[in-house]
Amino acid sequence: ASISSFDLEKLQVLGHGNGGTIYKVCHKHTNAIYALKVVHSDFNPILHRQVFREMEILRHTDFPYVVRCHGIFEKPSGDIAILMEYMNLGTLDSLLRTHETFSKPKLADVARQVLNGLSYIYGHKIIHCDLKLSNLLVNDKMEVKIADFGVSKIMCRALDTCNSYIGMCAYMSPEWFDLDTYGGNYNGYASNIWSLGLTLLELYMGHFPFLPSGQRPDWATLMCMICFGEPPSLSEQASKEFRSFIKCCLQKESNKRWTVAQLLTHPFVCKDPR
Ligand code: ATP
Ligand code: MG
Repeated sequence: ASISSFDLEKLQVLGHGNGGTIYKVCHKHTNAIYALKVVHSDFNPILHRQVFREMEILRHTDFPYVVRCHGIFEKPSGDIAILMEYMNLGTLDSLLRTHETFSKPKLADVARQVLNGLSYIYGHKIIHCDLKLSNLLVNDKMEVKIADFGVSKIMCRALDTCNSYIGMCAYMSPEWFDLDTYGGNYNGYASNIWSLGLTLLELYMGHFPFLPSGQRPDWATLMCMICFGEPPSLSEQASKEFRSFIKCCLQKESNKRWTVAQLLTHPFVCKDPR
């Protein structure tokens, strides 16, 4: 049975993102707990349809590596509310801040789960356009799931402050900044792999890989580093498999990057350490 927005009681604010606020909510009839994302939207109808289509797909699937969508509501104001599975440990971003860095088996586990999630959504012709630590959610079974699919498309339009723009661009691939390829050769699939590489590197290093710990970039510096600098790489201390995996993800030329299917066969994720 579908859930009505009138049956949801807001319990607390879980966090704020670029375009909206996330609440922990309780379904009054069943006492089930969910997360509700309310996004302000004033975007175009084509994008709107696409977001609804993607949410509809996610509403009818129960896949272990993707945050389940339980409903989508449109308010008279035009705002959109998305009812999601509640992930009780929050984001990988917040876990990193409380647990310092991640060990190799844990990183391989994260990589495997995210790759499986990407493989699944690609099967439904959905491309995630904002893969980063704060869009990877964790629960106490240590399941890692990808969140914010279509939503990230609404966000792209809603980015109003410079900081949120930098936050989004930090994980974008070099070709994303290239005006010659944008809309032409720009490949969302390959771009996700770049973001995945940066995300795993950040979990290992404990800070955004392009910059020394604690340093906040300005927009121009960041773009120059991504487009003109060498991709970040790992020191000899990291395992051979992990170094190789990161290298397969962080190729500046998008056609040299491995695909999801190829990465799923990489020794780093294949060799189960347990
Ligand atoms: P963006 O707006 O670019 O997605 P973000 O990912 O930081 O930025 P939100 O997706 O709005 O922001 O999420 C805000 C916070 O809400 C997260 O950092 C997380 O702590 C919490 N959160 C989001 N979704 C869930 C969920 N399904 N279950 C539990 N907590 C969640
Ligand atoms: Mg998010």
